[in-house]
Amino acid sequence: MINTEKTLTGVGVGRGLVVGSVRRMPDPLPEPARTPSAMTPADELARATTALSATAKDLRARGEVAGGVAKEVLDALALMADDTMLLKNVTTRIEAGTTAERSVFEAFAEFAAIMESAGGYMAERAGDLGDVANRVIARILGVSAPGVPQSTTPFVLVARDLAPADTALLDFDIVQALVTTDGGPTSHTAILAREKGLPAIVGVHGAEILVDGDTVLVDARQGELVVHPSAERVESALAEADARAAARATTAGPGILADGHKISLLANIGSATSAVAAVAAHAEGIGLFRTEFLFLDSETAPSVDVQQAEYAAVFEQFGGQKVVVRVLDAGADKPLPFLTDEGEENPALGRRGIRALFAHEEILRNQLTAISRAAAASSAEVWVMAPMIATVDETEMFVGMCREVGISTAGVMIEVPSSALLADRILEVADFVSIGTNDLTQYTVAADRLLGSVSELQDPWNPAVLRLIREVGQAGEQSGKPVGVCGEAAADPMLAVVLIGLGVTSLSMSSIALADVRAEISRFTLVEARKLAERALSARNSAEARAAVSGAFTQ
Ligand code: PEP
Ligand code: MG
Repeated sequence: MINTEKTLTGVGVGRGLVVGSVRRMPDPLPEPARTPSAMTPADELARATTALSATAKDLRARGEVAGGVAKEVLDALALMADDTMLLKNVTTRIEAGTTAERSVFEAFAEFAAIMESAGGYMAERAGDLGDVANRVIARILGVSAPGVPQSTTPFVLVARDLAPADTALLDFDIVQALVTTDGGPTSHTAILAREKGLPAIVGVHGAEILVDGDTVLVDARQGELVVHPSAERVESALAEADARAAARATTAGPGILADGHKISLLANIGSATSAVAAVAAHAEGIGLFRTEFLFLDSETAPSVDVQQAEYAAVFEQFGGQKVVVRVLDAGADKPLPFLTDEGEENPALGRRGIRALFAHEEILRNQLTAISRAAAASSAEVWVMAPMIATVDETEMFVGMCREVGISTAGVMIEVPSSALLADRILEVADFVSIGTNDLTQYTVAADRLLGSVSELQDPWNPAVLRLIREVGQAGEQSGKPVGVCGEAAADPMLAVVLIGLGVTSLSMSSIALADVRAEISRFTLVEARKLAERALSARNSAEARAAVSGAFTQ
C-alpha cells in the first residue's frame, strides 16, 4: 500500500523542523471493570502487592538514572506506590471480593479525591496519583505501562499528553520532537518543550491515526505535522532546517530589526548558574531575575548578607549590562514558607507578589538593601521591579521604597489587567514597566495557569491580552519610558514581532529561545511589525490572530 501524504495541524511550540519516525506513548488504561473476582483474595492480594512494590522500585530506579529534580519527582511518586495506608485500603477492597486492578483503581481514586478536596498544592499532586495508579494497574494486567517508550534510536514522541513523571525522564538526545493531541500553548508539555528547545506541536487533532514507525515531518513554526511526507518534501524541509540552523548560528549580537531599529534581547534567570547560559546565548543582559527561585526551600527569610552575595554573583557576570531584578514573587505557583499565607482559597487572587511583601515590609526593605549594596559594588546596570502590581498607589509605595535605599531605576511588572489599563499613570511614577504575559493572560481570561483543564484559555495570542499590551505599549511610547515583556510570550518568535509592533522595547526569555527570536525579528521592519500587530489585534480569537500573522512568516 502506498502511504499518501497527509497534513495535520496544531499549536506549534518553537521553530524547529524535524523529520523522524513515530513512537507512540500508550494511551491511558481504561477504568478496570467492576466484575467480581474469580480468584481467591490471597491471589488477588499477591497480584496487587507485587505490582505496587515493582512500580515503586521502577520509579526509584528511573529517578536514579535521571537525577536532579526528576529524581525528587520520581521518588515522591514511588512513595505513593509504597504507602501503607493505601495498601490497607486495597487489601480491604480485595477481601470484599474486588479484583486487584479494580481495588487499586478505587483506592488511588479515593486518595486523589481527598487530596483534591485539600486544595492548593495537594490538589495539584492528585493528578500524579492517577499516573502511579495506571502504572500499577498495567503491571497487574501485564500490558505496556503508560509512559515514554524506551528506545536507543531517535524518534518523534506522539502522546495524548505527557504527565510530569514522563517529561522528567525524556532523553533529549533520543526524543526529536513532541506531538500531543491534548494540551494548549501553556500546558506543561509546551512549557517544557520551549524551555528545552525541543520542537513540539500540541493539540493536534487527528494524531490518533499515527502508528509506530510512521515517518512524519514536524514543522513547529507552522504548527504542521506532515504524515508520510513525499521524498521531495523531506528534501526541501531538511534544506530549510539547515538554512534555519545556519541563520540561528549567525545571529549573535544585539536584537535588531530589518530597518536597524534596536530591541534589547534579554534573558530570564533564577540563579547565578542559569546566568552562565544567558551569557553563552549572547543575551544583552537579564530582563527578569526571579529572586524567589533562590529561596524556595528557605523556612526563614534570608539575611541581607546572604542575599547580597547571591545577587553579586549574578551582577558580576553582566558588567556594563542591564540586570532587572524582581523582588520576591511569593505565593500561588511559588509559595515561600516565610512569606506566603497558608490556607487561602484562591492563592492566585490572594496576598501574592507585592501584596505579600507589603504585608512583611521588613523582608522587602532587607531585599532592596541587599540589591542596592550588591549593585553599588558592581558595574552592572541594576534595575529593580515589583511583581503583581495592581494599582498606581502600590507603584508609588514601591518606587518610594527603592529610592530610599538608593536604587535609581525602579519599575513594576504589568501582570494584572488593572495595571495594564492604568499603564500611563503608572509610568508617571515608575521608570519602566515589564509585562508578565503568563500572569496577565491568566488574569485576563480568568484561567488558572496551573490547571490543565483550562490551559486552552491560557493563550497570550488572545486579542484581549494583545489589546491590554497595546495600552501599555502606547503608554510607553507617550512617556518615552521602556516597556519590556518577560513572560513566555516573548519566546514565541512570531508573537515577539507582534509585541514589538505593539510598542514593546525589550524582550526577555529563557536563554535557549534567544537565537530564534533574534533571527525572526531581524526579518521585519518596525512598520511591518506594526502592521502585523494590527492584524492580530483585529482577530476574534487566538487562532485567528495567529493565522492572520503566520502568512508573513512563511515568505
Ligand atoms: C509572568 O507572569 O509572565 C512572569 C514573567 O512572572 P512569573 O512567570 O514568574 O509569574
Ligand atoms: Mg508573574
